[in-house]
Amino acid sequence: MHFDLTEEQSLIAETARKLAADRLAPLAETLDHGGGREAFLENLKVLAENGFMGLNVRADYGGTEAGTLAFALSVEALGLACASTGVTVSVTNMVGEVIQAVGNEAQRAAYLPKLTDGTYAAGGFCLTEAGAGSDPAGMKTRAVKDGDSYILNGAKLYITSAEYAGVFVVWAVTDPAAPKGKGISCFLVEAGTPGLIIGKAEKKMGQTGSATNEVLFQDCRVPASALLGHENQGFRVAVGELAGGRIGIAALSLGIARAAMSAAKAYVKERQQFGAPLSDMQGIQWMIADRETELEAARLLILQAAWLKDQGRPFAREASMAKLFASEAAQKATYTALQLHGGAGYIKDYPLERYARDARITTIYEGTSEIQRLIIAREVLKGI
Ligand SMILES: Cc1cc2nc3c(=O)[nH]c(=O)nc-3n(C[C@H](O)[C@H](O)[C@H](O)COP(=O)(O)OP(=O)(O)OC[C@H]3O[C@@H](n4cnc5c(N)ncnc54)[C@H](O)[C@@H]3O)c2cc1C
Repeated sequence: MHFDLTEEQSLIAETARKLAADRLAPLAETLDHGGGREAFLENLKVLAENGFMGLNVRADYGGTEAGTLAFALSVEALGLACASTGVTVSVTNMVGEVIQAVGNEAQRAAYLPKLTDGTYAAGGFCLTEAGAGSDPAGMKTRAVKDGDSYILNGAKLYITSAEYAGVFVVWAVTDPAAPKGKGISCFLVEAGTPGLIIGKAEKKMGQTGSATNEVLFQDCRVPASALLGHENQGFRVAVGELAGGRIGIAALSLGIARAAMSAAKAYVKERQQFGAPLSDMQGIQWMIADRETELEAARLLILQAAWLKDQGRPFAREASMAKLFASEAAQKATYTALQLHGGAGYIKDYPLERYARDARITTIYEGTSEIQRLIIAREVLKGI
């Protein structure tokens, strides 16, 4: 066992760090205050041009073909500078991987190059509905075959990047009589398709630079060729791809947490109380030691899950462990970092309160911590 990165992985991580520092970090506060959309979209384009929108997509479809480990390192580096950009990159990579995994040759050739070269600013992943969040198999959106088309009707909720995504992967019920989860299919729907309506933009606690919208389907007709994979077998696709996506959200959590702890470590060295830097006080040192240890453990879980996925081995249990541990560690790290800043941590002149707000969603989306525990327990108890 060794922990060295390959030359390619080191180079990708270094490029991500540089782009994050040069382009993402200076924009993060503006995005948090609701501005900067054009610069944000420009950054997505630059990230695509540098290979970050298809890190695990094959080179013949314009991808970087660098693997999941490179993906995780990249999302961590980008998330450290700007969580809104980090989540956009993570979800867009996941959309690309769905198309690569179950799309036919024509679908891959039509959509992957546009995702990887930035023609599409982002990809959208339409699974959640108002009545189907943790239990997405309970979805109600319908797709009805009509000649050589399917007609989609329903509403998806909380869809990341919906306002600027060029293509959406959409799950809908095609056989309502089938047992739960067995009658769901997956479709590719291009932005601008009549009947695909981008609804209300959600006002959020954090990650405000990333758009989150309702997506409505009102008699939205797509050609039969938009079916992704086999009819009625779409739910398995969602479950499989979410496992990969969780490695991205775990890495994003780690990035946000590291940003907060970096600020805190610098602050406690500088800030003096009782005639000494805060960093001289054992109580403060222990807080830092505990959080840093948790982040290191999170990193190892992330790298393990990514490595397993890259080896083509089962990784769902490890991806859930990584997502659970890293996102919960990020809550503690961002709150500890805020606490270590005292009153300044609560003031918007410092980024600490933003880090805490940005981290908060990571224990919720792409499966809550409770759902990760269900998955882990199911896997751990399997066969006993
Ligand atoms: C900013 C943001 C971006 C998002 N982006 C996307 C996206 O791009 N695409 C997409 O499809 N979805 C997206 N989502 C949706 C997200 O994945 C869901 O919100 C999440 O899965 C939880 O579903 P829910 O909100 O319906 O909560 P619920 O399922 O109603 O859960 C409420 C609470 O009950 C708990 N709970 C539920 N079931 C159980 C159980 N069996 N045992 C124990 N506890 C349980 C949950 O853990 C949670 O604490 C996004 C959400 C947000 C807020």
